[in-house]
Amino acid sequence: MTVPMPLKRLLLPIWNGGHRLAWTAGEFAGAVLHGRLERCACCGRFGPMLRRPRAIPGKLVEMWGLSPRVAEALIRKETLDCAFCGAKLRARRLAKVVMETFPVEGSRPRSLRDWSRRQEVSSIPVAEINLIEGLHEALTPLPGLAFSDFFAGAKPGEIVSGVRHEDLTRLTYADQSFDLVLTSETLEHVPDLDAALSEIRRVLVPGGWHLFTVPLVPGVPRTYPRMKIGSAGEPIPLAAPIFHPGGDQGYPVFTEIGADLPEILDRAGFDTEVRFGPMTEDDIGQVFASRRRG
Ligand SMILES: [Zn+2]
Repeated sequence: MTVPMPLKRLLLPIWNGGHRLAWTAGEFAGAVLHGRLERCACCGRFGPMLRRPRAIPGKLVEMWGLSPRVAEALIRKETLDCAFCGAKLRARRLAKVVMETFPVEGSRPRSLRDWSRRQEVSSIPVAEINLIEGLHEALTPLPGLAFSDFFAGAKPGEIVSGVRHEDLTRLTYADQSFDLVLTSETLEHVPDLDAALSEIRRVLVPGGWHLFTVPLVPGVPRTYPRMKIGSAGEPIPLAAPIFHPGGDQGYPVFTEIGADLPEILDRAGFDTEVRFGPMTEDDIGQVFASRRRG
């Protein structure tokens, strides 16, 4: 049967909407069935944590050479979304580490949103580099929050659609202006990892923290470049290119992070602890707590 065009235009969004609804209902049922109900460390609401395998393309798993077990661990890290604020597992773990690193007096904060409203943290300057879903919204009450995103082609520090553009390899923030820098699955997309770490160190006060997550999977002993930028600004692949989901064409991975990350951080002037570790084939969602030395 041929559906007339105007009718198709009307039905298509309804069909897509209905499809999305069914999918969400399935995720809700899965969360309840498997007891994935908890208080979200970002927004503080109690509800289901939605496992969404579709968020991880099969092509990425294949190119990255992940075993089914590690692929499942990746799905958990990258989803188990809070049904209310969308915070993924890695964002909620990052929120927990922020609260542990900067404890407040009195009753324990129920969430990062609660923490952000406490008097003791109101003077802490924080840089969130690239908005982290769920975690960003929870941090917005914090008076000292500076946040930015990366907009290809924008000038450093430029405001694009109300959000500041910052390039991790040449931040526009002053030296020693933050107690805390947050990044999540960002370092691997920066063309020059050493420059990024040096910039993070520069904008942190001595003793300041860089709390972050990166894609790190078992079986990669050493960090290596997958891509570099040529003299004319063109990307040059050095290993099989990998793109992470997002944007129009995905985000290229410049650096494959390996198990030597703590040594790299040490050379960059940071002391690092791994939280929610150690990494196993069933849990690759570690949070790195890196502290500026001297
Ligand atoms: Zn939440």
